[in-house]
Amino acid sequence: MEIYTEKQKEISETIADDASHSNWKNYKWQLSHAIKDIDTFEDITSIKFDEEEKQVYEKVLEKFPLSITPYYLSLIDYDNYKNDPIFIQSFPDPHELIISKYDIKDSLAEDTDSPVPGITHRYPDRVLFLISNICGMYCRHCTRKRRVGDVDSIPNRSEILKGIEYIKNTPVVRDVLLSGGDPLMLSDSYLDWILTELQAIPHVEVIRIGTRMPVVLPYRITDDLVNMLKKHHPIWINTQFNHPREVTASSREALSMLANAGIPLGNQSVLLAGVNDCPILMKKLVQKMVQNRVRPYYLYQCDLSEGLTHFRTPVGKGIEIIESLIGHTSGFAVPEYVIDAPGGGGKIRVMPQYLISWSTNKVILRNYEGVITSYKEPDSYEPTFCDRNCDECQLQLELYPADEYKAVGIEKLLADHDKTISLVPMNTDRMNRRNAQ
Ligand SMILES: *Cc1c(COP(=O)(O)O)cnc(C)c1O
Repeated sequence: MEIYTEKQKEISETIADDASHSNWKNYKWQLSHAIKDIDTFEDITSIKFDEEEKQVYEKVLEKFPLSITPYYLSLIDYDNYKNDPIFIQSFPDPHELIISKYDIKDSLAEDTDSPVPGITHRYPDRVLFLISNICGMYCRHCTRKRRVGDVDSIPNRSEILKGIEYIKNTPVVRDVLLSGGDPLMLSDSYLDWILTELQAIPHVEVIRIGTRMPVVLPYRITDDLVNMLKKHHPIWINTQFNHPREVTASSREALSMLANAGIPLGNQSVLLAGVNDCPILMKKLVQKMVQNRVRPYYLYQCDLSEGLTHFRTPVGKGIEIIESLIGHTSGFAVPEYVIDAPGGGGKIRVMPQYLISWSTNKVILRNYEGVITSYKEPDSYEPTFCDRNCDECQLQLELYPADEYKAVGIEKLLADHDKTISLVPMNTDRMNRRNAQ
């Protein structure tokens, strides 16, 4: 099953004189031979750019660095590279220099919601913890382009400890999402240390790792890594396949090793113009995912970070894709389409509408084929006034004294026990007049 294609052999021989099957499959060899400049790219692929083109590429690289693993490069179809999804995701594009007036440096305001460096605490019960600023491959569509790729910026122990300390002191955090950069750029032992520290925190119930290694450097998934991860269950991993062409024998092997270690796998695709903005292609991709025990989790609308204008599609493209999946293929193969709100509102689901009308006792629904149907609601439903006194509730939910329950946002408006009747923006003239009175 192991592959080492003629093309990969050729690439490794061009790059290094220690070319061999075992070196090719050694992730450290892959990383130390990552392609970081245009000349090397030309030498390996025999694709030639003219001087003018090259000058523009160099300019792009001054702003956003280049790094492609030999493995990922080997997936490029040289003969049709301009339309190649692997090439487009990994090779600089002059459009990256275009900054639209709607672009935002820290578009998701991750720095604003950051109590300590590296941590973004946006949602009630979970945090994002950036533990690496480097990646095996620099995706051209990266939302954290502005910060990823700084040399030498794997945070040191004392920086990481500050993040861990924050989590320790914040009992509401039950889910820690490790991201970066790519957390799997850290050594096994360093990662082991971070996971051990996090796991020792009693209120941390689950740890997730966001990594693109199964896609860009599947050889990073080694027996040693998997055996180390296994010690820290429950560990979940989310990866990012964007195109069916990325699903190779090597990446399938990596996924299988992770799944066999009992790690639930998810996929977070980014909707990218010219790469995967096609319902048929996306159906193929999600089907390949579940075939490899990876649950499609999110489909992201491309963020408003700088240098991504050429990758953005209208939101309607994503809706069209989801419309072509729901009902048409396995329910668990359908991701949720989300827009990560500019300014820090977090992920917002944007899905097609299936509830099309309702009366006091019926709802009108439509299905994926266009069938319009009605569902008769119960004649009697004893609404219980919920005063959040769970001890007396017949539903037998056992809460511990430490479990606190605080309604937030729309949930607050719906809650019986909460007297809030509207959510009102604070900084309007109207509110300022009120406050001045
Ligand atoms: C995406 C994200 C999470 C995790 O969100 P889920 O919807 O639970 O996957 C947590 N924190 C931040 C800041 C995020 O961007």
